[in-house]
Formats: sequence, C-alpha cells, structure tokens
Amino acid sequence: MKRFTTLAASIMLAGTMLSAGPALSQDKCTVGISMPTKSSSRWIADGENMQKQFEEKGYGVDLQYANDDIPNQLAQVENMITKGDCALVIAAIDGTTLTNALENAAASDIPVIAYDRLIRDSGDVSYYATFDNFKVGVQQAESLVKGLEERFPDAKPWNVELFGGSPDDNNAYFFYDGAMSVLQPLIDDGSVKIVSGQMGMDTVGTLRWDGSRAQARMDNLLSANYTDARVHGVLSPYDGLSIGILSSLKGVGYGSGDLKMPIVTGQDAEIPSVKSIKSDEQYSTIFKDTRELARVTVGMVEAVLSDGEPEINNTETYDNGVKVVPSYLLEPTPVDKTNYEEALVGSGYYSDSDLN
Ligand code: BGC
Repeated sequence: MKRFTTLAASIMLAGTMLSAGPALSQDKCTVGISMPTKSSSRWIADGENMQKQFEEKGYGVDLQYANDDIPNQLAQVENMITKGDCALVIAAIDGTTLTNALENAAASDIPVIAYDRLIRDSGDVSYYATFDNFKVGVQQAESLVKGLEERFPDAKPWNVELFGGSPDDNNAYFFYDGAMSVLQPLIDDGSVKIVSGQMGMDTVGTLRWDGSRAQARMDNLLSANYTDARVHGVLSPYDGLSIGILSSLKGVGYGSGDLKMPIVTGQDAEIPSVKSIKSDEQYSTIFKDTRELARVTVGMVEAVLSDGEPEINNTETYDNGVKVVPSYLLEPTPVDKTNYEEALVGSGYYSDSDLN
C-alpha cells in the first residue's frame, strides 16, 4: 500500500510538473481554436485557458487569432480544415459568415463547437458553450439601477443612455434584450428617461465592439442632448466600450467638481476596468470565468471525439436560423466595488498585484 501511495504520489508529481511546463507530449489529435481578437484580454485568456487544458489532456492545439477581420478568420478556419485539425472551436467575429467553411468541416467529419458566440445560419455546429447571455444583460441593468439608487437617490427620472454590442454578434441581442427586460418597465413608469430617445439594437449597436466608436457616439449624445440636462447612467455591455464612454464623460467634466460620475456598467472584468471600478469611475462589470468556459468546451470536444454525449443544460434558447444548437450555459457574476476582491482575487482569477 505504501509503495502504491509513493508511486501514485510520484505520478501525480510528474503530472503536476508536466502540466506546469510547456513541453507536453501529444498523444491525441490537434484541435483548431479560432479566436476573434487579441485586442481584448478576455479572448487572450480564453485561448490560453483552452490551450493549457487541451494540452494537459494530450491534445495538440492550433490556436489562431483573427485580428477582428472576417476574411482573416475565414481563411484561418479553412486552413484548419485543410490541415486536418480534428475538431474546431470557434468564437466568431461575425456569426453569419462561416456557413460554407463549416460545410467543408462537416464533409471531413470535423465537429464544430461554437465558443461563447453562436455561429448562425449553419446546420454544421455541433454544440455551443457560453454563459447565460440574457442573464448578463439582466445583471447589467440591475447593477445600473442599483448604482442610480445609490448615487442619485433624488434625481428621478434618471437620465440614461443605452449602448449595445456588435450587431453581427448574436450575444449582443441577448445582452440588450436582457437589460431591457429590467429597464423597459422603469422607462414606462417614468423612473428612467432615455433623453436622446435612441433605443433598439439598430440604433445603439456598436460595430466590432469598438471602444473608439462608443466614445464618438457618447460625445455626440452629450453635445446634442446634455447641454442643460445631466446624464446619470449609461448601459454599456462591454468593458472596452465603457472605457471609451468614461473618457467622453470625463472630457466634459463628469467625475469632478459637482458633476458626479454617471453609473457606467460593463462586462468581462478586464483589468483596466476593474482598476477603474476600484477608483470609482466605472461602476460595475460582469465576471465570466473563462477557465470554466474552457473546461466545458474541452469536455465537449472530448465527448464528441469519442462519440459520447457532452454535458448540456439548454436545448431551447439558441436557434441559429437552421437548428437549435444544444448548449451549456454558465452563470455570470455581477461585480462592483463591494465584491471584486472576493469574486476575482478570491477565485484566483487575478492576483492582488494584477489590480494595483
Ligand atoms: C462576449 C463578451 C464580450 C464581447 C466583446 C461577446 O460575444 O460574450 O464577453 O464582452 O463579445 O468581446
């Protein structure tokens, strides 16, 4: 028994050493991972987490970033199919542009997992791993209202402006619809006023989730609608947009003197935004643990490659225009100044020094 324990311990130790180092022996096939961009740290974390977890299980990894360029992503995916990668994990830039490439994947029996963003208009998507995207929007709006109550208790109706994500990303509609499920009743009862009148994803969407576009739109909203009125809150669906929105607000004096900083939401718990929350600029974000998303995705790939059934918990919500894609939805976590330490440092996602 002792010998077994010692042997088991040395195997575990060897395993730990192996997983800590980069040179792992590959005894399984290579998985192609196509991520949209390196301009946002969450996608870098997604790629790294998947690479680590796939390699620990003996898979090779072909990890590519497409620089938010649609033809680039298409070429990378086609190349993965030609090279014979045995499964594809794709976070699409534009969810509608991969139909033909995925037909080729299907013809070569290569399973496809839609990662975080639904791939639309294709029957060749096997599974979808994501967070509860509607709930993300609900949490963003709930946090906006909580902040408005705290910072502007006597200012009703609260003057609010709305931002949406990229209209070619299916998630953007879920975030917006989730948020509006909380905000519309408050607009209807007169507690919230959208001063610009700009509502609906067609009007408030932000192509490519681009922070400078959001900043330019906020500049316009302020100059056209807020010469006398004051803005109290901005619904922002992503930290990269929030940073642009905050720059615009600071540019006209919000956050200093008697112009209190409006409540600005976000998503992804990216480090610059967590620092901004610590210093009372951005109000909140939504933490989506990319380690967990990687774990679910790696599990899905393993199951599909061994003809098994992956774990799914939703078979109703994500209709991609051709079929309802069986999905696993993870729980998002709202984060503000009161809980960022527990949620982000306590969970080991960041260290204290990352946030200083
Ligand atoms: C993701 C969000 C992210 C956004 C911008 C969405 O598809 O779900 O987490 O903030 O893309 O990268």
